[in-house]
Amino acid sequence: MPGKNVSKAVPLSSDEVTLREELRADVQRLAGEIGERNVWHYAKLNAAADFIEDSFSRAGLHPRRDSYEIRGQACHNIEAEIPGQPQGAAVSSPPQIILIGAHYDSVFGSPGANDNGSGVAAMLALARRFAGKTTQHTVRFVAFVNEEPPYFLGGDMGSFVYANRCKARGDKISGMISLETIGYFSDAPHSQTYPSPGLGLLYPRVGNFIGFVSNVHSRTLLRRVVALFRRHAKIPSEGAALPSFVPGVSWSDQWSFWRCGYPGIMVTDTAPFRYPHYHSASDTPDKLDYDRFTLVVSGMEKVIEDLDKL
Ligand SMILES: [Zn+2]
Repeated sequence: MPGKNVSKAVPLSSDEVTLREELRADVQRLAGEIGERNVWHYAKLNAAADFIEDSFSRAGLHPRRDSYEIRGQACHNIEAEIPGQPQGAAVSSPPQIILIGAHYDSVFGSPGANDNGSGVAAMLALARRFAGKTTQHTVRFVAFVNEEPPYFLGGDMGSFVYANRCKARGDKISGMISLETIGYFSDAPHSQTYPSPGLGLLYPRVGNFIGFVSNVHSRTLLRRVVALFRRHAKIPSEGAALPSFVPGVSWSDQWSFWRCGYPGIMVTDTAPFRYPHYHSASDTPDKLDYDRFTLVVSGMEKVIEDLDKL
């Protein structure tokens, strides 16, 4: 078992220090105070939904619940958006949508600090920052319910229900970015593993980077996002567009959007391939490396700003 995850000194700007404390507070709220949140802990699942909705409202946004039922229980995806204001030649067509998503349920038996309190905290922090911006694209933030088993990669998965509704409405989503378990880093040798030995030869063995993963169909979006991230970010990154059958590639809400024909990528610390507390009761807020987690989120803010200009 690796030692306590103390980060190497990284320089944070004063804005990033503010961001880090927001991320820390929201992970603590979701995983420390609310705790395990899923259909077996339905009141807590709803407490998390209320917290997310309230966070969007306090950011000055107007959240909407996109709900469906599973065996008589209402389940809620929660969305809030910055309506796009297209400029120039694009002004006559409806704005394209950049969708930033994170699942807010936790797996059975886990408080889900990294998986996926980290993704939700990041999504909320980005929503606060974009609430005051004017964008050409509609930037939509969505918290998804029921990503974890038994709904994982099935028809009742929150993001699958949601993506199908987007498709039925004809939403023009130019890119979906799934924030999935993004808060754990390690400088220990061999702290990074891979789903196949071949990938282990190509990619680093030290888990000190953030990963960007997509299917082959979404490789253009993936390359664009990685290039923009590297232009701005102060943390190493690796990108891989791989066939979706490679274990891990489809393991989050981007899968649902792929199924509906949309390009999508996942941002991840690689979860089971690095994080010793993956899907366990010990996935608690103290395990995260908040400095490096912050650099991922501040980098993603720049990525979304730049994607909006393309
Ligand atoms: Zn997850």
